[in-house]
Amino acid sequence: MPIRLYDSLSRELRELHPSHPDGVFRFYTCGPTVYAPAHIGNFRTFLVNDVLRRLLILELGADHVRYARNITDVDDKTIRRAREEGRPLADVTKQWTDKFHADCRALNCLPIDPPFEPIATGHIREQVDMIEVLMRKGNAYRTPDGSVYFKVDSFPGYGALSRVKERELQPGSALLGKPQTADADEKEDISDFALWKAWKPEDGDVRWPGPTGAAAGRPGWHIECSAMSKKHLGETIDLHSGGVDLLFPHHENEIAQSQCCNGTTFARHWYHSEFLLVDGKKMSKSLGNLYTLDDLVAKGFSPAAIRLALLSGHPRKQLNFTLDSLHAAESALKSIESNLVFLCDRAGMAFDDFTQDCEFPVDFKGAKWWHTVGVRDALHDDLNIPGAIGDLFSRFAVIRQGIVSPSINSPEEIREFLAGVGNVLFVLGLNVFPSKSENAIPTAVKTLAEKRWAAKKAKDYATADALRKELAAAGWSMLDGKDGYRLEPVKR
Ligand SMILES: [Zn+2]
Repeated sequence: MPIRLYDSLSRELRELHPSHPDGVFRFYTCGPTVYAPAHIGNFRTFLVNDVLRRLLILELGADHVRYARNITDVDDKTIRRAREEGRPLADVTKQWTDKFHADCRALNCLPIDPPFEPIATGHIREQVDMIEVLMRKGNAYRTPDGSVYFKVDSFPGYGALSRVKERELQPGSALLGKPQTADADEKEDISDFALWKAWKPEDGDVRWPGPTGAAAGRPGWHIECSAMSKKHLGETIDLHSGGVDLLFPHHENEIAQSQCCNGTTFARHWYHSEFLLVDGKKMSKSLGNLYTLDDLVAKGFSPAAIRLALLSGHPRKQLNFTLDSLHAAESALKSIESNLVFLCDRAGMAFDDFTQDCEFPVDFKGAKWWHTVGVRDALHDDLNIPGAIGDLFSRFAVIRQGIVSPSINSPEEIREFLAGVGNVLFVLGLNVFPSKSENAIPTAVKTLAEKRWAAKKAKDYATADALRKELAAAGWSMLDGKDGYRLEPVKR
């Protein structure tokens, strides 16, 4: 069964196939804007795409999946943050790029090899080149201040993805966001969008030479993705994904720019994951429900549980995230591990050997089981991640009931089952085990433990004792050795 995925453009389930003669599947996702930590709503999208990428790797082989995800390191938000903090733009964006990478590692996302994590400021030339082509072809025009705009009515296909009608693009429409008074004065039409923004004093020293005939300035946000996907994946990509919040105008604009410039299909398939709600409401700072990874880790949750909780709903439906769902995810992970320990024992296999088998690159082809079970069917059917997780649990339940399954009984059969489970855990990125994982120990707990160890070494036993109690209250015990210590969850 091939992978079938909903295509937001044709609005139907369509099979995923590489279209290039080299058989390499080209997959692009819009990456983060690096001016602050990403929140869990952003991470829901990145995790869904990580599972999709892992699934493609599992089916096509790592050499046949080329995945690119950009870093937006120049736009209004990054420039404003640098100005507010009185720091160079590159300093601010490096800080938040590093933090994004650390969060991705903690959440067990597969790393992206250079050069496939391109940064916008590293591709100014490519963006300017595209803008110049669009100006020459009559799809873009210069405004009196030296900015360049895309002329939306020059592209008859505009609106195909979002089904935006002309009437919805009138001034004051919610689709256009905040009134763009300054820009709107200069644009020929309200729906036109910026490809190049002429320098303004508030941009400080952020500016590059512009396209021929335009002023010095910086690229608009939309052209970044068109230029970077073209450079690294080619003019036509097999799959473009992102959060549903990017569907309009960002992705609509990417299609317009790329197709007018290149004269060919931009993306053959579009995939959008839905919003994350927190406690039934849209996330916002004012409601106090906007969580980052660090916020949740400080509450004692492991990144693995956060990953599982964020993947627990169908990617194309809104997911309501609650702290209760995180508690449930923590117990689910422990249950997965205890099932595996039990089965490894029955198969005469060391649990450590099993966990190593789940590391990337796993031996995909070896696991016949992967090809016969509902987990794979669920993922191939529009990336039904909760269906896959549910299938995995129901199989554990059947097999644990005294190993009654007629087909999985002998140590060899159990080992084969475990090889399949290893593939499933890899594809879901749940190959992180509570008892094995450094990540499973919350940062706040690690900090307490470090303080207690320092106090003990300094023979400040009163402080060390008080800290031991704090650790116990957080659910952790500290086992001291001669040269160091070990943290273990308190058994309840
Ligand atoms: Zn993008």
